[in-house]
Amino acid sequence: MDDLYVDDRCEQIVEDDDFLREIVNSAELPVLLAAINCATADEQYIPDTLRPPLTLVDTEPHPHGGLSPEAQEQARELAFHGLRRLRDEGRTTVTDLSDSDVNGLLDYMSNGETQWRQMLRHELRLTPEGAGEPEWSVGDYPAGRDFKVLVIGAGIAGIAAAFRYRQAGFHTTVLESGPDVGGTWRKNVYPGVRLDTPTFGYSYSFAQQGEWPHQFATGGEVQEYLQDVSSRSGLTDDIEFNARVTKLVWDESKSLWLVTSVADDGVEQEREFNLVLSGLGQLDNPNIPDFEGLADFNGLIMHSQDWLKGADWKGKRVAVIGTGASAYQIVPAIYSDVASLVVFQRSAPWMLPADNYHDEITSSFNWLRRKVPCYAQLFRLWTFIQGTPGRFHTVRARQDWEGAPLSVSPKNEEVRHVLIRRLEKQFQGHPDLLKLAVPSYPPGAKRMLRDNGVWAEALTASQTTVVASGVDRFVDNGIVDGEGNLHELDIVILATGFTASDYLEGVEIRGVGGAEIHDFWAGDSRAYNGVSVPGYPNFFMLYGPNIGGVVAGSLHFMIERSVEFSLKAARELFERGAGSIDVTPDALDRFVEWVDQENRMMAWGQEYVNSWYKNKLGRVSQVWPYTNLEYWQITNTIDVEDHVFSGSLSAVNEDR
Ligand code: NAP
Repeated sequence: MDDLYVDDRCEQIVEDDDFLREIVNSAELPVLLAAINCATADEQYIPDTLRPPLTLVDTEPHPHGGLSPEAQEQARELAFHGLRRLRDEGRTTVTDLSDSDVNGLLDYMSNGETQWRQMLRHELRLTPEGAGEPEWSVGDYPAGRDFKVLVIGAGIAGIAAAFRYRQAGFHTTVLESGPDVGGTWRKNVYPGVRLDTPTFGYSYSFAQQGEWPHQFATGGEVQEYLQDVSSRSGLTDDIEFNARVTKLVWDESKSLWLVTSVADDGVEQEREFNLVLSGLGQLDNPNIPDFEGLADFNGLIMHSQDWLKGADWKGKRVAVIGTGASAYQIVPAIYSDVASLVVFQRSAPWMLPADNYHDEITSSFNWLRRKVPCYAQLFRLWTFIQGTPGRFHTVRARQDWEGAPLSVSPKNEEVRHVLIRRLEKQFQGHPDLLKLAVPSYPPGAKRMLRDNGVWAEALTASQTTVVASGVDRFVDNGIVDGEGNLHELDIVILATGFTASDYLEGVEIRGVGGAEIHDFWAGDSRAYNGVSVPGYPNFFMLYGPNIGGVVAGSLHFMIERSVEFSLKAARELFERGAGSIDVTPDALDRFVEWVDQENRMMAWGQEYVNSWYKNKLGRVSQVWPYTNLEYWQITNTIDVEDHVFSGSLSAVNEDR
């Protein structure tokens, strides 16, 4: 398998029938049946009658993909039979599956979505073909030998790029501004930091770690995973740390990028590369609002991403400004230790129920992971499958809907009511707080959080005050709110988000004719497939504009596909003996129009909604409005009509 973690042999099952019955009772049945099918290649375990219907999720997930109680009962019997068989036959590995066996398995898990097959094979390689691993090598092309690739950043995207480009045999350099890999997970170490999407939806297809401590991994666990992936794959040694890329200049005569980087000690270095991949993050540069008097405050002030090592909030008077995903994790993590807590809320967050948000992975899951071949990998695939349709159906706007601006459709209105009922329970006895806790915009219009009740607990605690009148100004000993009340403070935490729409901030990029990319964008970052920009040949963004999923899909999938798309572009150069590939302006316009039209149909695209999904011009420039499938399709080939090839390949000057 194309995977850094999968061990194709697992432990022998030795437990008795009673134990196996208990395990079956706590397993995710479609996954267990699929795993038994993988181990036995016996299709009786994946009958059409027990296909999970993949009932769409409005708020709470449906166990077993929505199988009816009767079907669940039959599935349990079948799974029990299967586990006994694995035990009695001593099966500890996956059986070789034929192509049609794999199709049968994928069709079972996806309830017959045959058009997902190739995309799902990318996520779990069960046959030699189909994974993201390049089927070619740069060594196949004479011009490839001296071709130099730069990856900027060693976060999730940079690691994915370095991994795949190395698989294709490229000479790859990774320049990382920080002292370690991990990107956002290296930087965000505030109390409470963890995933707010399920752990098994948050890993690479080529590094399917099955052993995770938590259902929603902590920040430290994700960071350890990224460090482990880098070291297992031998990438860590190739990364130049503390080297910040500051400038890229395209040399048209040589079809090369001249790249300037600055080391920690301020020493600048210039190097040439044939191709540059940007793994720079989107939620990376803190948004520090221009609050009046900010500099006058005598206490400690820090942005959520720049958490001061050793900061001690215990017994202190603390304010948190913002109620987005970061504040949502910080506030519950600190409220019980502080003397007082003021939460400045501009708009309340919508929260999806997730009772297991702080839970550990169960012991029965760990048993299944150890004893049933591929169970954890199939569970990951299952998370991917369920996330493919995601919750689009809850956020699609109906034209002229009378519930606007509080909801965008009947389904959205229904979700709103379900979530309000939950808030009413959580804020029982606190009518004033409840009023503040109910958002005044449609569910899904901004990022939705995962909730197990801790937010309400923190806001209703006696030491907490929620201020909705805004920050009027900072003074030396605290903040004066919009109603003129002074809140005396020792610590202020700015959980005020990021300048998400300012892609490639801090790097000067001069393409054809010396045009700077930010001037070209004029505040509206755009890239074809989220990857390439006309006038910037051989330059590819790996988490670029308009490819962030918010109610569906996998981030890692989108990033891996951006990487694979860029690899296909590189191969085209070799095939044609060209020096550069550049996307056409028309192709970019067409792509932007296509995503804009769909984004306008979504809750977040409504004119009356504001969030970090939109840029300063009001266009939704961050969000991918389709499913993973459409991204799979548009990144499958390089459409030559959409590109211009020119020049010839030059060897870089190694002395630079
Ligand atoms: P955010 O979602 O942009 O939230 C920023 C908060 O600050 C909002 O409540 C915003 O209010 C408020 N704010 C901004 N400027 C303000 C001002 N001048 N005065 C008062 N309030 C102000 O930022 P974030 O919480 O850092 O999260 C950003 C994104 O990062 C998330 O959506 C998510 O994608 C990602 N993230 C993920 C995780 C995770 O997976 N565990 C954790 C944290 C963050 P308004 O809402 O009214 O604008």
